[in-house]
Amino acid sequence: MNNADKIYNLAVSGVQKLVPYTPGKPIEELERELGLTHIIKLASNENPLGPGKKALAAIQATLKDLALYPDGNGFNLKRALADKYAVEMSQITLGNGSNEILELVARAFLTPKLEVVFSQHAFAVYPIVTQAVGATAVVAPALNYGHDLDAMLQRVTDKTRLVFIANPNNPTGTLLNHADLETFIGALPDTCICVLDEAYCEFVGDSSADTSIAWLNLYPNLLITRTFSKAYGLAGLRIGYGLSSPQLADILNRVRQPFNNNMLALAAAEAALSDTEHLQNTLAINTQGMQLITEGFKKLGLEWIPSAGNFVLVDMKQPALPIYEALLRKGVIVRPVGVYQLPNHLRITIGTQAENQLFLNALIDVLA
Ligand SMILES: *Cc1c(COP(=O)(O)O)cnc(C)c1O
Repeated sequence: MNNADKIYNLAVSGVQKLVPYTPGKPIEELERELGLTHIIKLASNENPLGPGKKALAAIQATLKDLALYPDGNGFNLKRALADKYAVEMSQITLGNGSNEILELVARAFLTPKLEVVFSQHAFAVYPIVTQAVGATAVVAPALNYGHDLDAMLQRVTDKTRLVFIANPNNPTGTLLNHADLETFIGALPDTCICVLDEAYCEFVGDSSADTSIAWLNLYPNLLITRTFSKAYGLAGLRIGYGLSSPQLADILNRVRQPFNNNMLALAAAEAALSDTEHLQNTLAINTQGMQLITEGFKKLGLEWIPSAGNFVLVDMKQPALPIYEALLRKGVIVRPVGVYQLPNHLRITIGTQAENQLFLNALIDVLA
């Protein structure tokens, strides 16, 4: 065994078996590889409109202060979130992306003796944070590509410390109804923490973003996670948050790093919250794009999973990787989802109407 292999064996066993998360291919990488220009990326559920004007102005105004440490308690952003959702500031945990909140909850509550329940085809970060701390992942089979709450509940034992639910789910776009979800949360033992990942809740419409908040008063073991990466168009800044009972938030805040959120992200997120115009534009372009893309699928005889998010999973009815690669050669980056056990599907992020049309044209060519 050479020295490099010895290092590998020193890692905790969960980490040795970990498959790293594969992000969507960056535009610059594809440019370097294929020498293409005019590449479009519909691979990471980013906001095709970019950040809003208010967020950009807040970033500009903050640049002069970059020599200083950020506010480690994120006071202004927490106050804005507390006002918006009518919760106490003590119920909020800020994270370097909501992914960090997922990691904090795993680090704070899991040991190698404990189990975590989540669904087949659920977000890829759940197995990563579970295995990284050596806990056991218990995967419940999906129902019509979405979460099967009964199957999940059946797998909850006295060893289950965490349950992860993504609603809407990435990559499938499936949505649970609130009544079923609340019944599920209420049925969990109080030794089990329920992480409700609502990274896409703004796209669901109606009052969806408020419904689950009301549950926080009833279930001290509930943690709702949300993000500025998707509907708010700030993925590059890395900022998200958890909402929970003050007790759960206190535990998460003990494990987080003191300055986990950078100053530009804090300022931009606070400004973005008040930018209702940008959010409305984002939702409108998403609705239009979802319609255009799914009509395109229909014309091509392809089936897709109805999505509540800003992306859609389409069934290519053949191995999707060669189609993904052919699209890359045409300068269109989408997302293969083989790691989610969906080798025949591709996930397409809804872009601008021009991007959506370019994608459809490229797909028509590739399938011809
Ligand atoms: C994108 C996404 C997140 C969060 O991403 P961050 O950028 O870390 O906030 C969380 N959950 C799901 C299901 C996602 O798709």
